[in-house]
Amino acid sequence: MTSSYLIDAKDFLMVDSNVQIQNKLERILLTVQKPGRYTGGEYNQVVKDWQQVKTRVALAFPDIYDIGMSNLGLAILYDLLNQRPDVLAERAYSPWLDMEAAMREKKIPLYSLETKHPLAAFDIIGISLPYETLYTNTLNLLDLAGIPLFSAERGPQHPLVIAGGHAVFNPEPMHAFIDAFIIGEGEEVIQEVVNAQQGWKEANQPRAALLHALARIWGVYVPSLYEAHYCPDGTFSHIQKLVDEAPLPVVKRIVAHLPPPPTRFIVPYIETVHNRVPVEIMRGCTRGCRFCHAGMITRPVRERPVDEIIAAVEEALKYTGYEEVGLLSLSSSDYTHILELVKTISERFAGRNLSVGLPSLRIESFSVELMDSLKNSRRSGFTLAPEAATERMREIINKPVSTQQLLETARAIFGHGWSNIKLYFMIGHPSETLEDVQAIADLCRAVLAEGRKCIGKRAQVTAGVSTFVPKPHTPFQWVSCDTIEKIRAKQDLLKRTLRGPGLKLNWNPPEDTMLEAWLSRGDRRMAEVVYRAWKLGAKFDAWKDQFRYDLWLDAFASTSLDPTFYTHRERPIDEVFPWEHISTSVRKKFLTEDYLWSLQGRTRVDCRERCFACGILPAFADLRRANPGEVWQCPEVKSRRIPVETLQTVESLPAAD
Ligand code: SF4
Repeated sequence: MTSSYLIDAKDFLMVDSNVQIQNKLERILLTVQKPGRYTGGEYNQVVKDWQQVKTRVALAFPDIYDIGMSNLGLAILYDLLNQRPDVLAERAYSPWLDMEAAMREKKIPLYSLETKHPLAAFDIIGISLPYETLYTNTLNLLDLAGIPLFSAERGPQHPLVIAGGHAVFNPEPMHAFIDAFIIGEGEEVIQEVVNAQQGWKEANQPRAALLHALARIWGVYVPSLYEAHYCPDGTFSHIQKLVDEAPLPVVKRIVAHLPPPPTRFIVPYIETVHNRVPVEIMRGCTRGCRFCHAGMITRPVRERPVDEIIAAVEEALKYTGYEEVGLLSLSSSDYTHILELVKTISERFAGRNLSVGLPSLRIESFSVELMDSLKNSRRSGFTLAPEAATERMREIINKPVSTQQLLETARAIFGHGWSNIKLYFMIGHPSETLEDVQAIADLCRAVLAEGRKCIGKRAQVTAGVSTFVPKPHTPFQWVSCDTIEKIRAKQDLLKRTLRGPGLKLNWNPPEDTMLEAWLSRGDRRMAEVVYRAWKLGAKFDAWKDQFRYDLWLDAFASTSLDPTFYTHRERPIDEVFPWEHISTSVRKKFLTEDYLWSLQGRTRVDCRERCFACGILPAFADLRRANPGEVWQCPEVKSRRIPVETLQTVESLPAAD
């Protein structure tokens, strides 16, 4: 592949001053929707003198401001980097279509909100990729910045382009465009990347030297230092490292305990997705739902102390003036001290009109007491995620809550004054039948009936039904995806049966599922499809009204790749996956056993009750030993295995299997 840009970087060398960009912006901002997306200058933004720092980092989110401003990962990095006197961090987001057209017409490169410097003038561009449908927008963002799209085409004058986030646990579909991926948690590794970049700059070395230095950092994957090999039948064979520095596997980075949460959140002038203080109360999940990518890749569970969370809420409310706090985690009601936390917040901030949100609640760890503590929060709806409607199906996916328990919880929610329950389901789970799908409608009706008994016709049930994608690094990574026809048949059944007063159904178009599956399960060859789709005009793929499935099919057709190879093929148990060189430290042996257990309908309890030796503890034994007590939810480690200090280098980490 060679690149051909919609915008030539050279155009921007003529307008590379922030003053010129500012002047040009003044002429176009009043012609576009929501100019507040593009002005910066919000309360709590950090502006530093460019001449007083060694490293300038642009933190970029490849979707519009309204969405990117709610990304907690970038807010954490913004806060941490700006705490360093020798570093500045600024923000950039994808412009919406009208603004992009105006910028291209006036030859305004993508710029940072804080100082209006073009992205090409930064030392490092850090891109957040929490989900795969941002890939074409990432190419568009680089193109708008006038930066060569392909890593191989960048020289010493170009910024280092790095990316992190949950999607990059399979980085291969984006390997050609990103210089280095951050695998895992970014708080510590971002500092080491900055240090490496500073050392390289001072030594005035070729760009390759920087890439080699980055590869030595635990948790950094530099794709150009590896070569992928395939079997004659097109399946993945193995990856070969090309230099000694390149670790194999690349083990994910974790922090031993969560650093204090950020509190000086930037307060947007315009409405964004979440206008609230987000506080991460714990990281990781011990439940072991077999479809759940986040649950597998974010292990081990580490909790923040209650006092630290309360102090952060207090400080953040003072700095932002928000009236809502979100206590975030993959499963907030599993936080050990959730009741104490919510009660303390309710008491401490009583009279301040504060609303407390717990976005992800488990049915079985949910209590009436917790509900009572949340009562004063201004919530219209309550969300529960049974994910499947029959007990058989819930055992297969390892979410073994009984229907009776679900109905009791629903009764309690309606009984405590809530009028709307949102139920999240997935269709397409392994071995699912049309009866299992019909059961979704039946269960929603049963929940509505409980509501009617409590509050009459005010009761409402909204079913959100998405489609299962077998994600890398999960016990279901061997499974195939439903075809579009199968998904449609299941959705049609739901549209026919899940209707009537008090019931509402939301679903995703099956084409969205195909795209997510191609991109999340793709190998290096998929980079060509991503590039061609973007060249054909694909962008904002996460937006229903912008997503062009036909462009993606055309992109596939212009290569020798068959899209169904990635989606509709059940993998033999011994197939090598193209993402296996990225290690989450959850062993493939554990995932294989868990997959085979699912076929027998066998379940696992919460691993806080019983450790299933998934691989996390041997990989991070000394970090666990150095952090005794209940911060980690894995058992304590007694025997000595790996010296703590050696965990700082990838070479010393054990292989995933
Ligand atoms: S090591 Fe044990 S307790 Fe820790 S995440 Fe794995 S299974 Fe759970």
